[in-house]
Amino acid sequence: MANKKKDVRALTKDQLRNFFESQGDKAFRGNQVYEWLWSKGAHDFDDMTNVSKETRQMLEDNFVINHIKVDTMQRSNDGTVKNAVQLHDGLVVESVLIPAKNRTTACVSSQVGCSLDCLFCATSRLKRMRNLNPDEIYDQVVAIDNQSRLYQDRPLSNIVFMGMGEPLMNYNNVIKAIDKITDVEGLGMSPRRITVSTSGVPKIIKKMADDEVKFKLAVSLHSAIDEVRTSIMPFNETFPLADLRAALEYWYSKTKSRITYEYVIWKGINDKRKDVDALVQFCKFAPSKVNLIEYNPIDDGQFQQAPDDAINMYVKVLEANNITVTIRRSRGKDIDAACGQLANKS
Ligand code: SF4
Repeated sequence: MANKKKDVRALTKDQLRNFFESQGDKAFRGNQVYEWLWSKGAHDFDDMTNVSKETRQMLEDNFVINHIKVDTMQRSNDGTVKNAVQLHDGLVVESVLIPAKNRTTACVSSQVGCSLDCLFCATSRLKRMRNLNPDEIYDQVVAIDNQSRLYQDRPLSNIVFMGMGEPLMNYNNVIKAIDKITDVEGLGMSPRRITVSTSGVPKIIKKMADDEVKFKLAVSLHSAIDEVRTSIMPFNETFPLADLRAALEYWYSKTKSRITYEYVIWKGINDKRKDVDALVQFCKFAPSKVNLIEYNPIDDGQFQQAPDDAINMYVKVLEANNITVTIRRSRGKDIDAACGQLANKS
């Protein structure tokens, strides 16, 4: 059952200062508590050792700290770590630590389940139960930063919003979490090390451009032909490619920031020359990068990774059109932590 007391971390620093003043205390007490909550990651009011016992009790009487709890943790043979993260109301999301030679990336969730219905994705079967709060997103990052220091001997270097959920369907909370992650009073990370990956919600992409966000944008495209895309990502009917393209043109005109496309090539679905030609036409209006991602089959086998010939054809055509292309091997397959596999199975 959800606790009736308010989560103290939903308060801004000013709101905390006001709260202390309203209790007849000094406003600076709010700064001290804020620092404990965000810079020092306090899990309990009793951790706040430079705050008097009476004040800690007063906080306890009025608030809770709804920290996430890493419930189970699985480590893959390749060093990938998958966390099942329990939220204060008992729901569970997953986050993943992905180590590489010179970096550690956190793949974090933004919703419990997902608002969208991509047929190839395990998360889509969970249906959206609720959005994550900013602090629940922030906590996933802090937990993975701690794991990176423990297992990789270095802090976390990058974040991708590519776990459970469609981040642009929880835009306000994702933005608040990123503000905290990049704030010097939070984790102080550069926004250029953060990528928000979306299936493409045109209105919010335009809003991001207007908001002048500094993080990077990736689009899970998977097909630049409406008919094909709708057959695997049914929401494409509501947000067709022309609208997505217009939003991306607007984004580029405002940010001048390169756009990354995430793309899986499936056997018999998007593995023909016409598919790659459509992709070139779709993305050549701005500097683009296409990540060809290895697919990890989910249980029913409806989707299968295309053979190497198709991948080589994509690489050749994209490169001939001066579009940067990388092939992304999936990590953590043995623990169901790879792209599209997050479905609370652990
Ligand atoms: S691929 Fe992303 S947007 Fe699509 S259902 Fe899965 S989690 Fe949601």
